[in-house]
Amino acid sequence: MFNLSFPTNNINIDKNFMSKCPVCGAKQDFLEMSIIEDTNNDSFIYIKCKKCFVSFIGIVNFNPMGISIVSFATDLQKSEVIKFRKGDRVNEDDILDIHQVLKNKKIDFIKMMK
Ligand SMILES: [Zn+2]
Repeated sequence: MFNLSFPTNNINIDKNFMSKCPVCGAKQDFLEMSIIEDTNNDSFIYIKCKKCFVSFIGIVNFNPMGISIVSFATDLQKSEVIKFRKGDRVNEDDILDIHQVLKNKKIDFIKMMK
């Protein structure tokens, strides 16, 4: 029965989150899911398909209106997701500093990437 006061009690996130791999269609048995971080309202999850090896990062939000899920494919391993989640964030000043260094050294980054 759905419990509005405790929405996280309404779903078994370990078993019912994803029924098949969206890339190769492998059944749920091939999906390995880990909860990276879990709070009262959000779960930050990592899913890996053991058949095609694609991985997904997702945030599951539980609220009285329902459940919303945002996820995207990644090539990061679970250990990398954990590592980078706690790392320093890149901000606007970091980007400007990189731009200035490249400019001072006369490095055409766009040309270099082509
Ligand atoms: Zn797959």
